Amino acid sequence: MAQGKIVKVAGSLIVAEGMASARMFDVVRVSERQLIGEILELRGDKASIQVYEETSGLGPGEPVESTGAPLSLELGPGLIESIFDGIQRPLSSIRSMAGDRITPGIQLPALDREREWVFEPKAQPGDQVVAGDILGTVQETQVVAHHIMVPRGIAGKVTGIQAGTHKVTDIIATIAGEDGQEHQLSMIQRWPVRQGRPYKEKLAPQSPMVTGQRVIDTLFPIASGGVAAIPGPFGSGKTVVQHQLAKWADADIIVYVGCGERGNEMTDVLKEFPELHDPKTGQSLMKRTVLIANTSDMPVAAREASIYTGITIAEYFRDMGYRVAIMADSTSRWAEALREMSGRLEEMPGEEGYPAYLSSRIAEFYERAGQVICLGSEGRRGAISAIGAVSPPGGDISEPVSQATLRIVKVFWGLSAQLAYRRHFPAIDWLLSYSLYIDSLADWFTDNVSPDWGELRLRAMQVLQEESELEEIVRLVGMDALGWKDRLTMEVARSIREDYLHQNAFDETDTYTSLDKQYRMLRLILDYADKGQMALDSGVNLSDVIDLPVRERIGRAKYIPEDSLAYFDEIESELATQTNALITRGGQ
Ligand code: ADP
Repeated sequence: MAQGKIVKVAGSLIVAEGMASARMFDVVRVSERQLIGEILELRGDKASIQVYEETSGLGPGEPVESTGAPLSLELGPGLIESIFDGIQRPLSSIRSMAGDRITPGIQLPALDREREWVFEPKAQPGDQVVAGDILGTVQETQVVAHHIMVPRGIAGKVTGIQAGTHKVTDIIATIAGEDGQEHQLSMIQRWPVRQGRPYKEKLAPQSPMVTGQRVIDTLFPIASGGVAAIPGPFGSGKTVVQHQLAKWADADIIVYVGCGERGNEMTDVLKEFPELHDPKTGQSLMKRTVLIANTSDMPVAAREASIYTGITIAEYFRDMGYRVAIMADSTSRWAEALREMSGRLEEMPGEEGYPAYLSSRIAEFYERAGQVICLGSEGRRGAISAIGAVSPPGGDISEPVSQATLRIVKVFWGLSAQLAYRRHFPAIDWLLSYSLYIDSLADWFTDNVSPDWGELRLRAMQVLQEESELEEIVRLVGMDALGWKDRLTMEVARSIREDYLHQNAFDETDTYTSLDKQYRMLRLILDYADKGQMALDSGVNLSDVIDLPVRERIGRAKYIPEDSLAYFDEIESELATQTNALITRGGQ
């Protein structure tokens, strides 16, 4: 192992000489205090090292020792329900975030060494296995079965497998490898964070990640294995959207990476998340969640690493065949850490001081999402859907981080401070947002919801767009300039906004809407649009169309319980009866 000495300290970046035998990205231990660092640059025998811990008090001459291995994670039972920092040190209690810091240099194992798990073998002695095959399972929490997989690079015959209660480091299986070696496997795998975990094949998006949030599922759906960005002007409801996604999205595992927002904000996240109730299981949401947290008072370097730590953990659960949703909040803070490190390395700055490789780093993160066929002979499928929050200064998305993100992601949920101000929640602006998955998911919606789903969606979007154009006219010349047809359009748009897109996260029924119910709700509103138009055409007054008694029921349709969707038939026939009556009367 390379052993060198510090020659320079600049914040969290240090330069050490005598490191010729070290490699890029090796983890090093710095000074007697054994601070953790990572080699970012090697020139001759000089290494530039980012240190993940407080460097004050360090000085030239102190020792630096390479560990000979890149920054790696421990993957195994005990991940779920954990709160880690950016380099996977366990933040055992929320108190340690809010108050006490982690002691520098401390060598805490990421996974609890004392905790015991019941290992139920799936493979048997004599079985031929390859990397990715499931050796057995540990019930990690009430809701997560944690599969212990054959690590990469190992294939051969199982010669021993130990059912029963084990600690993570106990040997649970022995494999006579094709390489002629005997491999003794524990429940822990190690994996370098900056390297994506392998899979057999990446698949094109085929199905949506259903979220139960109408504006998302209907207008701007994300594919399972898809990538989305959400900007978060303060108070625009970003936290509520994230919580709703964590609770309701059809993902098995949630990984939340909190990246250095103000210190107290992160503490809020750490307090709130464990208190979230999982509607699917009735338990705490933490029973299927891993939290990675960095506050801004932690060194920038750890913040830079946290996003890789998060996605590596996500990949590990994907490899088990799970659908994972990872949320990174905020990638802007992460990019700032990157900028700071790059500045200290004295690299040539690009736009707004960000390094030239900003875009490629952002792309590398999102590219690790996707739906895949996992390693292993079973052909399991797993998916990672990634949702990154961006928090551009002043909310201006023309800055480099937002722009680089928008070039990569396929969905943009544009939160609008204005909508939030008007208390329209979720404040996802329908004129600003987009989803590029519409076409690839069209067949899925046709087959699984209804053949006219795509048509209804398109009509709803058109009505909303027309509304914004008509509003402009009204603003310039007044409502009188509009004909009856346009006024009806305005009314239908209002109904789409208020009765459909507006969704109260805190109402027991409204908080989640199945796709079937979304379809019925939207069909009802557009049915009203058609029937209203028919009535107008046959000479009925607009005010009568607007004041149809059934509209009260349309407005309350969001509160129809999921098990009573037959009510929609009733409302539809009431709508038909009432418009027919109007037309008959109007025609007299
Ligand atoms: P941010 O994280 O962007 O600062 P929050 O997510 O905390 O904002 O939202 C601010 C407030 O807006 C919440 O406390 C809540 O009252 C309201 N709100 C946001 N989204 C919804 C929603 N879907 N339903 C009802 N209220 C909401």
